[in-house]
Amino acid sequence: MPIENRRVHVRPRLARLAAGAPEPIADGVWVVRGGFPLKTMNVYFVRDGDGVLLFDAGISAMTDAVAAAGASLGGITRVVLGHGHADHRGVAPGLDGVPVFCHPDEVADAEGDGGDHYFDLSLLAPHGRFLLGSLLPVWDGGPVVVAGTVSEGDDVAGFSVVHLPGHAPGLIGLWRESDRLALVSDTFYTVDPQTGIHGHPRVPHRAFNWDTEVARASIRKLAALEPASAWAGHAHPLTGDVRARLERAAETT
Ligand SMILES: [Zn+2]
Repeated sequence: MPIENRRVHVRPRLARLAAGAPEPIADGVWVVRGGFPLKTMNVYFVRDGDGVLLFDAGISAMTDAVAAAGASLGGITRVVLGHGHADHRGVAPGLDGVPVFCHPDEVADAEGDGGDHYFDLSLLAPHGRFLLGSLLPVWDGGPVVVAGTVSEGDDVAGFSVVHLPGHAPGLIGLWRESDRLALVSDTFYTVDPQTGIHGHPRVPHRAFNWDTEVARASIRKLAALEPASAWAGHAHPLTGDVRARLERAAETT
């Protein structure tokens, strides 16, 4: 049975400001876009029995909106973290009683500092250093308690887990062969974290990567799946010739 969410009726106006309503993007899959400043944080909902699971968990300010969206879709069964950074685990601690899962290589950071120990904000421009240094602690919901792990090839609500390390050691995507849909967290960026400007897909900014060269290889691994669409943790999906776009993204710095 899906677990009831307890925050559904709390501060609905604030919730609407922090995130939108769930938008259907594929059979049994929805996205809630939220966060500040630019509503570029994506939380995915995937049909999971009578309820929905969350893939990625946005920022803490999205908690009420995500809980309300989950309730409207039958209740949140579980949270699966694409990775454990502050802006991807944010709502998880506020969803009372909902179990959290991630890749084994991500457990320590999801339960710890959210990867902060390998971030290097000195690689950002001064304004970006100030902006991201200020926002990361506000975005974060804090450490989560991991109830279990999912690894390469595991079935999660009709999707297959794909390990795409680099940006984070245990970053995962969810892949559905039937419609070639990929939900991939921060495997690539299409928005500049320092300016909010959208552009072509590229390797995530080095300031936030566990290992940038490994991240590059993971983009190529994703490209080889030939997705029809690839939805990342931020901003808009990749469509069209996704393989070629990803192969070019892997070459970026
Ligand atoms: Zn990240």
